Amino acid sequence: MAYNGIISLISDTETRPTQAMRRAMAGAEVGDEQKGEDPTVNQLQERVADLLGKEAALWFPGGTMCNFVAIRVHTRPADAILADGMAHIVRAESAGAAFSSGVLIEPIASERGIFGPAQLDEALARIATAPPPYGPPPRLLCVEQTHNFGGGAVWRSNELAELSAHARARGLALHMDGARLMNAVVATGTSARSFAATVDSVWMDFTKGLGAPIGAVLAGSRSFITEARRQKHIFAGAMRQAGIAAAGCLHALDHHIERLAEDHEHARRLAAGLQEIPGVRVRTAVPETNMVFFDPSALGLSSATFLAGLAAHGVRMGEVRGEIRAVTHLDITRADIDTTLAAIRTVASTPGAPEHAPADHRPY
Ligand SMILES: *Cc1c(COP(=O)(O)O)cnc(C)c1O
Repeated sequence: MAYNGIISLISDTETRPTQAMRRAMAGAEVGDEQKGEDPTVNQLQERVADLLGKEAALWFPGGTMCNFVAIRVHTRPADAILADGMAHIVRAESAGAAFSSGVLIEPIASERGIFGPAQLDEALARIATAPPPYGPPPRLLCVEQTHNFGGGAVWRSNELAELSAHARARGLALHMDGARLMNAVVATGTSARSFAATVDSVWMDFTKGLGAPIGAVLAGSRSFITEARRQKHIFAGAMRQAGIAAAGCLHALDHHIERLAEDHEHARRLAAGLQEIPGVRVRTAVPETNMVFFDPSALGLSSATFLAGLAAHGVRMGEVRGEIRAVTHLDITRADIDTTLAAIRTVASTPGAPEHAPADHRPY
């Protein structure tokens, strides 16, 4: 359902908690999370550890902090970490890993965020142009499931297993930014546990398609999570009666996972409709999950003009590096997709479309 008449496809972070989720949050049992005494947070951590097949899990206010803390636990200052060049860690966290962990971030070249052993080896070779002590020691490989700027692309479990074996043989630990891991699970039918089995640490976000207002949970071995708890404290991520928020995440686990399939169907419907509009180039004809990237430049409209035209019809999308990104989520219905396509057709057929609400560049 569109909020206040606005269809916001800017991000799946646009979801608002449902009334049922709000009721679950209002009734949550709470305690002091910082002391490990919030029963609802503890329950969520146990559920996620079990879901991901890891020994332990830890509650966080958000996913960016999960990345910072995980990188911090895996590395020492002046180590190197590797991630796809368009990874959220590389492009959308303000070099926070470099700041908070003192690491060199070596980007890996890939088409849509998915890469293989050969691309990893190329990046490792760039780090080690000369023998030690010249190049920094590579410690950690980060993968993103699904890959956001790669268009919601999904790592298959066999691709992950092959890459992971290759990386481990080169002494690397593996971390998964699983902001949209459950989208990958629903899209493929592969369990979260089997995706997570190939990595040492993994987190999932509850504030994207799962629709909770606050929360992410990081999982790994017991010793990893013990150290992560200390680092979370240092990053000021320890909270008090966080069970209010964690109850929303538990509600999402119970009610908002299977329905991600609807978001994927809506993304496919949007992409199919866009392909019928002359002058619109869709990056991936059949999106794998809940994101559609497209380029409207052949319409003769700048991105800003295109987005302003859409906004005048009550439809919001964002721009990511010259392309338009539309993300489906639980507040978007099939009818909203049809309304969106009608708005795009109108904008596409209006020469000199309206000037200029500034484009929204938020990339998450
Ligand atoms: C949103 C996102 C993050 C950051 O999560 P927050 O909960 O917004 O801090 C990290 N990685 C990816 C791929 C994301 O999409």
